[in-house]
Amino acid sequence: MIFMNDFKAEPQILRDAMMEGVQRVINSGWYVLGSEVQKFEAEWARICGTTNAIGVGNGMDAIEIILRGLEIGPGDEVITTPMTAFASVLAIYRAGATPVLADIDPTTALMSIESARRCISGRTKAILLVHLYGQLCNIDLWQKFCDEYGISLVEDCAQAHLASIDEKCAGSFGVAAAFSFYPTKNLGAPGDAGIIVTGNSKLAEKAMRLRNYGQSIRYYHTDLGLNSRLDEIHAAILNERLKWLNDFKERRQFIAEKFRAGISNSEINLLAKPKSKASHVYHLFVLTCAYRRELQEHLENEGVQTLIHYPVPIHRQKPCLSIERDPLGLSASEKHSNDCLSLPCHPQMTDEDVKIIINAVNSFKVK
Ligand SMILES: *Cc1c(COP(=O)(O)O)cnc(C)c1O
Repeated sequence: MIFMNDFKAEPQILRDAMMEGVQRVINSGWYVLGSEVQKFEAEWARICGTTNAIGVGNGMDAIEIILRGLEIGPGDEVITTPMTAFASVLAIYRAGATPVLADIDPTTALMSIESARRCISGRTKAILLVHLYGQLCNIDLWQKFCDEYGISLVEDCAQAHLASIDEKCAGSFGVAAAFSFYPTKNLGAPGDAGIIVTGNSKLAEKAMRLRNYGQSIRYYHTDLGLNSRLDEIHAAILNERLKWLNDFKERRQFIAEKFRAGISNSEINLLAKPKSKASHVYHLFVLTCAYRRELQEHLENEGVQTLIHYPVPIHRQKPCLSIERDPLGLSASEKHSNDCLSLPCHPQMTDEDVKIIINAVNSFKVK
């Protein structure tokens, strides 16, 4: 079976380096917010081209802390997409703000600017822009859009580590950005971890307090924060995995190019080709098919695991049935969630795996 992820197949030297990282931390006797975290924060800020990075517990907390740091809360609206991880929207609720959902562009599954425009109100404070599947798209248009309305652009980069446009990296386009290092992300820890990047030093200082109970100096609390600190063991492992990230990214892009060149089946559509190679890091390779259930079954029989990202759009989730949304509805999101299917696309796949997947997809026929 070709799996969606295969951590045990990672290079032995990487696995050894991760063990050494763990050992380093245990030998140091310092376990939370120490030198490994500082090293990782400095390195991640440099890679993203921002001045500050603040390690936190996970990607969802990163979004919540950014919004609270921007003083976005009760009575304020944040526009985002129903085609995202539940965490994007949950973080807006947890900040006390009101999420408003804009529909997607069906060719990319990314949030549509026209739809977002219909979601703007006097209470709109920010756009939470999700670089879904690893795609950076229309950044200059979103920046203009946010400037036009005087609102903040916040990036959800949980799927877009190292995606770039004109050498500018995901995370450097908005006032702040959230990354997740959940194990399956393009850069993953062996557990939960996340980071905030921002070029705004006041926001960075506030985020550093908020992640640590709202503490300014030890035992003095200026805010009601949360407990969302990055552990040293995770940071040590991230420091090791970081050395491989660029090669892993290039392998994902290579596999995706093979898929694009090789997949040819009239029942199957691919999402739009990215405008430049660097702008898509293929956290997921997604296709659409009107006969998804049958296709998924066929691929399973051919030894190819698949997953659906996402089978239920946010506004169809039980706690969100009356969520605010584009007055014209969210029909493109609904269609995409019915038809989308993610193929395995990870750095441990061999060239043979790639061929097997292409042949399996091309041999699908509707009975
Ligand atoms: C994974 C993910 C998150 C949440 O990250 P966690 O670390 O799991 O909290 C948020 N947004 C998107 C788009 C994600 O893929």
